[in-house]
Order: sequence, then C-alpha cells, then structure tokens
Amino acid sequence: MNFTGLENYILIWVIITGLCLGSFYNVVIFRSLSDESIIYPPSKCPKCGNRLKPWHNIPILSYIFLRGKCAFCKEKISIQYPLVEFLTGLLFGGIFIKFGMSWTTLFGIFWISCLIIMTATDLKEKVVDCNIAIAMGISGLIFSFINSGWIGAKDSLFGALIGIIIIEAVALIGKLFKKGRAMGEADTYVAGAFGAIAGWHDIGLILIYSFIASMLFILPAFWYERYKAKDSLTIFFSALFVFSISLFILFNGVYWTIILLIIAGLLLSYTVIKSMKAEDKKTCLPFVPALSLGFLYFLMFVL
Ligand SMILES: [Zn+2]
Repeated sequence: MNFTGLENYILIWVIITGLCLGSFYNVVIFRSLSDESIIYPPSKCPKCGNRLKPWHNIPILSYIFLRGKCAFCKEKISIQYPLVEFLTGLLFGGIFIKFGMSWTTLFGIFWISCLIIMTATDLKEKVVDCNIAIAMGISGLIFSFINSGWIGAKDSLFGALIGIIIIEAVALIGKLFKKGRAMGEADTYVAGAFGAIAGWHDIGLILIYSFIASMLFILPAFWYERYKAKDSLTIFFSALFVFSISLFILFNGVYWTIILLIIAGLLLSYTVIKSMKAEDKKTCLPFVPALSLGFLYFLMFVL
C-alpha cells in the first residue's frame, strides 16, 4: 500500500497508541487475575510495593533501561510487560497498514485488544473473562450493521450461532475421550464473537486455522510427554505420520501416498485416543491463543 505523508504520520501515532494501550492492557491482565480494581491503586511493584514513577512506565523503553528489574528492589519484571506492549504496537500498526483509515481499522484495533488480554490471561492462568468475548461479539454485530460493504446483520448473527455450534460439537466429541470438558467455556464465546464478525461464510475457515494453530501448542507438548512416558509406539506413529505428509507433498498427492497417509493417520489416532483415555487429567490446554492466531491470520492475510 502506498502511504501519503499524512498516513505515515498517522501510522506512527497508531503504533505509539498501541504501545501505550499495551502498557494499560498489562495492568488489566495483571489485575484481572488478582481481582483488583483497574484504575486504583496506581501501578506499583508487586514485590516491594513502591509506586512507580512516570518514567518507569514508558512502554518497552523503561524495561530496557531498567534492564528488566524494579528500580527500587531489583526484583525481576515479567517479560509479559514489554512483550504485550510490543505485540499491541505491532498489531495496531499492521492493521492500519492493511486497512488504512476505515471502520475495519477502528474495530480491528478493538478486536486485537480483546484477543491480547484474553490470550494472556488464558496462557498465564487459564482464566478468560467471557464478558470480553461477548463485547467482541456485540462489536461484530455493530460493525456488520454500520459497514455497508460488510456481511450484514443477518449473516453476523447466523455466523455467531455457527461458531458456537462448532465449538460445542467439538467439546461434545472431546467428552467421549476425556473426562470433563475438552474445551473451555470461553472458547465457545470467542468462536461466537468471530462468527459475529466474519459471518457464517468464513467462521468455519477461521476455526480451521485455529485448530491448525492449536497443533503448534499441542503437538510439541504431547510428544514430549509421550517421550517421557517412554511410549515409543506413539512416537513411531507420529514420525510415520510426518513422513507420510512429506511424501504426500513431495509426490503431489499420488494415490499410494494418500493410502500411506490414511494408514499412518489411523495408527496415530488409535494410539493418541488410547493414551488420552488412560489419562485422568481434567485440565485442557489453553485454546484462546490458538483461536486468536487463527483469527489474526484471517484478518491480516485472507480478508
Ligand atoms: Zn520493587
């Protein structure tokens, strides 16, 4: 996209706004996990309780100048702070570069903010505030209502319904293999919100991206766990499956690679289901990060 001087100027301000809001989201994330009010008390070091000076609160820069330690007691500052600031600034900038001066940029900034907060709390303590997802869903409905080039309110509502049904169906199937719910309740709200934003045409696509993204989280952890449990059969079938995928791609989907892929897939599924049934764990992996990645991919590269 060719930017004019004015647009470049706005881009810089959008990124700075993102950095500063990221700083605020850190407080929201921290306090939503500890049940404190968002505005009061003013930010202080969680260890020594000293109130931070304004120059200790400059996004990213303060962390670098303080070398990641509290200015008073030298307690290590969580990497979460600069990371959330950086990501918020980066994504705000990316949204503006992609959508320019538009409703999509304005709403996109809101959606990204919601996803950053929910992803962080889900990763940290598997806690997600469903109200944020609901706000996101309502914003999607408003967006489709005021943006005439978009999907329209009927598609938006229908999309929300489809998103909710898909995740509930997956949770139901997961129940067959695991004790307890396979998906968090918040996942359903978030998928509903995505449906309200993207409509029923695209919600399936977003959720497919999300499930692929979830593999990035699940597979390494799963393999490591199987490795520790000395479950050589699952490791072997996993390797066979990856090998089959490579052959499938390499030989452009010749029929024998498809057969090999199906056999390897069935063998792997069999051992995976068996090991899942043997496990007692009620906890599930955080899925909101994967949902967020799927949605971001759709927003930035598909739309
Ligand atoms: Zn301190």
